[in-house]
Amino acid sequence: MQPRFVDLHTHTTASDGTDSPSELIRKAAALKLAAVAVTDHDTLSGLDEAEAAGKELGVEVIRGCELGVQGKYGEIHLLGLWLPRRSASLEAELARLRLHREERNRGMLERLRALGVDIPYEEVLAEAKGESVGRPHIARVLLKRGVVGSFAQAFELYLGYYGAAYVPRRLPTPEEGVRLMAESGALVSFAHPMLIRCPPAWFDEIVPRLKEAGLGAIEAYHSEHSSRDERFCVELAARYGLGLSGGSDYHGTAKPGVRLGRGKGSLRVTEALLEALKSRRERLDKAGADT
Ligand code: AMP
Ligand code: ZN
Ligand code: FE
Ligand code: FE
Repeated sequence: MQPRFVDLHTHTTASDGTDSPSELIRKAAALKLAAVAVTDHDTLSGLDEAEAAGKELGVEVIRGCELGVQGKYGEIHLLGLWLPRRSASLEAELARLRLHREERNRGMLERLRALGVDIPYEEVLAEAKGESVGRPHIARVLLKRGVVGSFAQAFELYLGYYGAAYVPRRLPTPEEGVRLMAESGALVSFAHPMLIRCPPAWFDEIVPRLKEAGLGAIEAYHSEHSSRDERFCVELAARYGLGLSGGSDYHGTAKPGVRLGRGKGSLRVTEALLEALKSRRERLDKAGADT
């Protein structure tokens, strides 16, 4: 039998991707992917639509979410996989984070206004379509209006860390983020660790701390990881008894170089990796039930 492939990190119009949840699943079906985790930033609002499309088209949909937390060297991203259908505490915290996003987005528009670029918040909301709104949506408005010549320039001049309109986002601590999703029953994976600009030795400080809080895996396979990065992550996971996850971080046309299931061309996440994550979850559930 042909090996089958999966993608455990994707975004939709529920946050800053450009495919609706059902479009994303339709593309996954056309690519014959066995499973897709939908992992929008700070929202679960795309999951029901994705699941319904998955049932219809024969694609296994894993309910997920990507959460940013404040690390010593900048943002750390965490993926929650197999989130429960209902979790009051998780949903309340995500709603709080989205409210912070709105305050911050309005703050950035105020700064832009002071620089002579007057964008009403409604225009950003219209661009966003979903419930999780962020800098990529503001960048698209700036591009559409011709204020900047490219998406990258919107970040360079205005929205990036050194940009003139940048406002930082208040984020949970790494432990809080891991606990929030782990306690709801999700498997938590450390997303694209090698994108953090930190000394490699720092991972031996942060990963055991996160494991203590409930971390279950490391995203070794990602569009922006080289094969050297993958090896580093595989060894890191082995050192701390963690599982491995992998996904493209597909955003549709918002990240033009990144293809669903294939990343920048060489990414392949096998169904075997997904099966290994599932049996790890079952083992942990069983261990939990026995104690
Ligand atoms: P936010 O969640 O609102 O802080 O926006 C973060 C998103 O903006 C990231 O996931 C990236 O997709 C995008 N982003 C951040 N920095 C840059 C940059 N320098 N150039 C292009 N996109 C960026
Ligand atoms: Zn994103
Ligand atoms: Fe991320
Ligand atoms: Fe992502």
